[in-house]
Amino acid sequence: MELGLKGKVALVAAASRGLGRAVAEELASEGASLVLCARDAQTLTETSDAIVRNSGTAVLAVPADVAVVSDVTRVVNSGIERFGRIDVLITNAGGPPAGKFENLTREQWEAATRLTLYSAIELARQVLPGMKERGWGRILNITSIAVKQPVEDLILSNSLRAGVTGFARTLANEVATYGITVNNILPGYTRTERLEELAAMMAEKQGISSAEFKAKWEKEIPMKRLGEPREFAALAAFLVSERASYITGTSIQVDGGWIRSLL
Ligand code: NAD
Repeated sequence: MELGLKGKVALVAAASRGLGRAVAEELASEGASLVLCARDAQTLTETSDAIVRNSGTAVLAVPADVAVVSDVTRVVNSGIERFGRIDVLITNAGGPPAGKFENLTREQWEAATRLTLYSAIELARQVLPGMKERGWGRILNITSIAVKQPVEDLILSNSLRAGVTGFARTLANEVATYGITVNNILPGYTRTERLEELAAMMAEKQGISSAEFKAKWEKEIPMKRLGEPREFAALAAFLVSERASYITGTSIQVDGGWIRSLL
């Protein structure tokens, strides 16, 4: 299927590793030019160099923290300066800390709100005027399965990603007549660096091996295995493509069947 992404300019946030990186690689292989950001300059440069080497596409890497508004402005402006426009926006950030309500402070709630909710809002705010002007745009937020089935001990993620979903669902209708779509993609347990780190940490706490701990997650997944970042990125590329022109306001999970609800 020709996705029509050749020559499009895609901004992928938090893309030095994990899901963001996998999405960036998939879009590069479809011929899109990329604007990438992440906090750690060195990892970001390594990722960006690898993508250029493998795909030959043009990549602009801008070290930035998406929770800081002036950093978001710098990323968007640098992208527009280099490529003239942003056609596709993928919002993403590191996950907020785990924890139960009674153990989380007001400061942690505020920081998580900036990281998970405001970063998506601010990125959208800054790319939308250009998309409206050109009458074409794609916004895709990376959220979580927690949106459809809250995950235990992740009250920050469960709450704030619901906020992103409400924002996106409303925005989708507000910009629909401009040829802009707004959707959310919900990763299930996917084998990224973060998940490996999390498994190692939890395993140590429980005095078992990382493999034994991951087996507990896999038991809950109908496919009995973790997802691969490439499996996630394939749907992301489709949702931001020309071919997904009539899909907006949706939240679609890539979770091997983990969510048990009908919709
Ligand atoms: P990861 O830790 O492997 O990668 C996160 C990326 O975000 C890195 O490139 C990191 O440098 C960057 N980053 C983190 N905070 C940032 C910030 N403030 N500003 C800019 N860049 C930042 O994580 P991942 O597994 O790829 O997860 C991506 C998102 O998806 C997270 O929000 C995570 O909670 C969510 N998620 C992941 C899974 C999973 O199984 N992997 C499941 C559900 C939800």
